[in-house]
Amino acid sequence: MRLIIVSNRLPVVVEKEGENINFKSSAGGLVQGLSSSLETLQSSTGSKNYTWAGWPGTTVDDEKKNLVKDKLLKELNALPVFLKETEMEKFYLGFCNSTLWPLFHSLPNLATFDKENFDEYTAVNEKFRDTILPIVQKDDVIWIHDYHLMLLPNLLRELLPDTPIGFFLHIPFPPFEIYRLMPREWRGKLLHGLMGADLIGFHTYGYMLNFLRTFERTEGIENKFGHIEWKGRDVKIGVFPIGIDFEKYNSAPEKPEVKVNIDNLAKSIGDKKVILSIDRLDYSKGILNRLKAFELFLDKNPDWHKKVILIAIIVPSRIGVYEYQKTKENTDMLIGSINGKFGTIDWTPILYQFKNLPFEELAALYSSGDVLLVTPLMDGMNLVSKEYVATKGNGVLILSECAGSYEELRNTITVNPNDIKEMASSIKKALELTDEEKIKINTPLQAYLKKYSIHWWAEKFIKSLIEKKPGTIKAPKTLPGTSLINDYSATRKRLIILDYDGTLASFTSNPDDAKPTDAIIKILDNLSQNSKNKIAIISGRSKETLDKWFQELKIELFAEHGIYHKKDNKWELSIKLDTAWKEEVLRILEMYADRLPGSFVEEKEYSLVFNYRSGDKNLSSSVVSEVYDILTNIIANTELEAVLIDKGVEIKSTAGNKSMPTLRMLKESFDFILAAGDDSIDEDMFRVLPEKAYSIRVGVGETSAKYYVKDTNEMVSLLNELSKIEKSTLGSFLKEVFRKS
Ligand code: UDP
Repeated sequence: MRLIIVSNRLPVVVEKEGENINFKSSAGGLVQGLSSSLETLQSSTGSKNYTWAGWPGTTVDDEKKNLVKDKLLKELNALPVFLKETEMEKFYLGFCNSTLWPLFHSLPNLATFDKENFDEYTAVNEKFRDTILPIVQKDDVIWIHDYHLMLLPNLLRELLPDTPIGFFLHIPFPPFEIYRLMPREWRGKLLHGLMGADLIGFHTYGYMLNFLRTFERTEGIENKFGHIEWKGRDVKIGVFPIGIDFEKYNSAPEKPEVKVNIDNLAKSIGDKKVILSIDRLDYSKGILNRLKAFELFLDKNPDWHKKVILIAIIVPSRIGVYEYQKTKENTDMLIGSINGKFGTIDWTPILYQFKNLPFEELAALYSSGDVLLVTPLMDGMNLVSKEYVATKGNGVLILSECAGSYEELRNTITVNPNDIKEMASSIKKALELTDEEKIKINTPLQAYLKKYSIHWWAEKFIKSLIEKKPGTIKAPKTLPGTSLINDYSATRKRLIILDYDGTLASFTSNPDDAKPTDAIIKILDNLSQNSKNKIAIISGRSKETLDKWFQELKIELFAEHGIYHKKDNKWELSIKLDTAWKEEVLRILEMYADRLPGSFVEEKEYSLVFNYRSGDKNLSSSVVSEVYDILTNIIANTELEAVLIDKGVEIKSTAGNKSMPTLRMLKESFDFILAAGDDSIDEDMFRVLPEKAYSIRVGVGETSAKYYVKDTNEMVSLLNELSKIEKSTLGSFLKEVFRKS
């Protein structure tokens, strides 16, 4: 297997120095995270092979393109997608960063809607497709990243029906009401673009639920357990919160090259407390509100003057976009005004740097900072918050509840980024925490970050993509009546499994009116009188109803979708309930149990319980309501229910599953098998049938049955034909005997 990673940017930037071409590693959370995970990925997938496709960070002259491409491929396994400056302007600065970014961060008033930008976005996605296609081989797996390339999964899918394609969104997915603000055509195309993937990943359950709801509202298609059937394929939607290279940050303060910087900082800061503020320049990071909170803190707490400094690192970003320039100007002005208001000859309250720091300096800051203020208005994840906690066991993280990392790190000091007063008082609270209190908060968080690292993230996503069943759901074919009848006639031991409502009888508004007609009873009777046949009805109806209708017949009866089986004239519980759902639910619950110290997951035969009796009291209510909300949403169209019990949430099956009675009957060997049904519950039965079986879906719709018939009439007349076969053969045989005598 070879992994093809596709992101807007390559992990390197191409630099031209006269005639020479050099590569410098490129900045950014995604690039850094993925790069450090490639090694783990290679060992977990057994693949030594990867190619990374993306923009090489600069425009390259036509005559140099081949040279750059060859060098990148040879030295770094990197495939450049060359983009012109005009393309970057409309695609990157335009649609990506002036439309999608603000909208997906739920800041719609900052979004612009320009058709030319969307057209360029489409053209650039097509350019990515055209660059990647020629290198794709059988057994390759493609992993596409982020909002720049939302059309690419389907553009590739149209030409690569069998290649596993994964997509991961690194920014939030907004609520439907915000997504809907985009023109109809664009928002439809983006959703359809994503659905070309086999697996779509998000950082948080909140974003995943926003996506599922948006898809349902736009396309009218519901998910089942995070799976959506779309154009004959199965698409899985999942949650994979990105982590960090825990060991790298945790061990950083011991590294000589970091220690030097820590010592230098200590010399220049003295014994003042250090508050950190570290972000890329972006209005979504809430930098202005944070500065206002620091100003209010200084206003209210003169005793802290000269005893504290705020080190503000702002990394330059998207310089060409108007809103970013405005944010920069406003930030510069506010910092100037706070320093002017409170500063003295021997104290500058805010030390400000507008630059990208290398790891050695950043880690030294993390290690020297007593408090880190992470207060975005909205942030997909926020790696800085995780890196700080990993580096400094006795620091205090003040975290916005609108950062993706809040779902995982909520037992730090949490704030609302629009509440300046709350942020100001949190700064005071943070500065006054004892080392013991800080360590108590951070120790479980560090254990969590160690477990859910960047390596966990990359490995989990790729494994889920590779292990996922093939995306294609085969379209059923018209039933080949003649060959079915021939097979039936030629066989000696036959099994016929029938659903009732929708298969043998049409639906009626009053269920009692859908009782079997005399004709149907006669057909079933004829079929069951034939000693070569075993006839079974697996229905959602009650035991009483099935008794009333079919008790005179020699057929196997299963009531309530197979929960009850009538044996020796007595009804008994017949099945073990399906437990395949437990793996996915367990994954969700265990992740939340790791986030709520003291809570745990109880596994029972047919249910799972999230038990928070000993969980942290302050956090339980928010975690539990989130778990309950997520579970009720994703199990909405399944046979499961989530129930709030005393100090717990229980998830359990509510209904039977037709696969169990089917499998039980299949323990005997048959040389002819026919199974017919009409709705999603019957799919469980179709899925476990052997290849040679005639599985028949009654009516149109997505199905794993091999064949379909139009309606109940067609189904009943097929059974009628079968019921006559041996009678007529027997009849003609007898006639022949009598004629001869
Ligand atoms: N970073 C850096 N140098 C700096 C400041 C930040 O290399 O001077 C890195 C930081 O280590 C983190 C990434 O930039 O990995 C920022 O990621 P985050 O998720 O916090 O924000 P994003 O920029 O992706 O919105």
